[in-house]
Amino acid sequence: MNKKYDFLIVGAGLYGAVFAHEVRKAGKTCLIIDKRGHVAGNIYSERIEDIQVHKYGAHIFHTNNKEVWQYVNQFAEFNRYTNSPVANYNGEIYNLPFNMNTFNKMWGVITPDEAKKKIEQQRNESFVENPRNLEEQAINLVGVDIYEKLIRGYTEKQWGRPCNELPAFIIRRLPVRFTYDNNYFNAKYQGIPVGGYTRMLEKMIEGIEVKLNVDYFEDKERWDSTADKVVYTGPIDAYFNYKFGILEYRSVRFETEVLDMENFQGNAVVNYTDSETPYTRIIEHKHFEFGTQPKTVVSREYSAEWQLGDEPYYPVNDEKNSSLYEKYRVAAEAENKVIFGGRLGEYKYYDMDKVIEVALQKVKEVLSK
Ligand code: UDP
Repeated sequence: MNKKYDFLIVGAGLYGAVFAHEVRKAGKTCLIIDKRGHVAGNIYSERIEDIQVHKYGAHIFHTNNKEVWQYVNQFAEFNRYTNSPVANYNGEIYNLPFNMNTFNKMWGVITPDEAKKKIEQQRNESFVENPRNLEEQAINLVGVDIYEKLIRGYTEKQWGRPCNELPAFIIRRLPVRFTYDNNYFNAKYQGIPVGGYTRMLEKMIEGIEVKLNVDYFEDKERWDSTADKVVYTGPIDAYFNYKFGILEYRSVRFETEVLDMENFQGNAVVNYTDSETPYTRIIEHKHFEFGTQPKTVVSREYSAEWQLGDEPYYPVNDEKNSSLYEKYRVAAEAENKVIFGGRLGEYKYYDMDKVIEVALQKVKEVLSK
């Protein structure tokens, strides 16, 4: 069979779309296939009651990388949304990320000095020089009260594992600030694409052939034969038929409902940080775009252990899975025709901006060969 395309791209998510856009710009041909019935992977959004609903979990674009920010702005205009979730701990409301508003509500402290002293006092008994896990890291950073009320319950629900068995880096994603600033991210640029992520992604892949509802593995050899190179963005262990073992993920289940009211919770994101509430957070989608529709759409997010056949969301980067991934990474290097990319292809807890950054780098590298 004659090769028809320069690249076959398996997966129409963000990594695949950036890759496709760039190679097309360079005059190469490509075909995108995806097993789902829609493009955009997990950033897919859908209009319900005239509100953009983030079907696979809320995505807030944020980056410090100017090049990446300019890059996405080619495909969409971004609104001024700044993520500032609130935490609900048994009916007590706290601002996130951990900042002076949080410390004031927790302890009544007014100045940054008072807050620092309070945290020092709190961690004194339990301070460890080199935190080996999330619990130690969290207590080092913000002390016991915040750990107990705002971190432990949420984290254990989200990851299904005790905090002292989780890697410290997960919590390093969250800023700790001694200013009254509720911006969740330390990022220069932030926003949500006007018109939704799906439309943004469709713009990226404009003019590129896409086949949906196609399972690559059902006819892998034939698909491979259609192109010189394959860009594979699915789970890396699935590619190798799980020959070294199955990598673990956390999956998420969403219960989405339309409510006949204008405003349910007054914020896009409310985290339920106690252990008893079965969901981790409630997303009220309209607040991502300052919506004024008469109705509202909310999604309760339930974190679940992933099983083969479920949608994978978060790679579990603990020691066991990291060393298993390492075996797959080495095997992947030997597959000369295949490029592995994205959150699943590289088994990494990537944010969207990082996905774009690595995809752009990879394309450059591949095109210069
Ligand atoms: N986290 C927490 N309490 C919160 C929110 C987050 O303890 O109210 C911790 C938790 O361990 C979580 C991590 O911070 O896994 C990262 O949270 P983030 O909101 O960045 O995760 P994502 O939005 O990617 O699900």
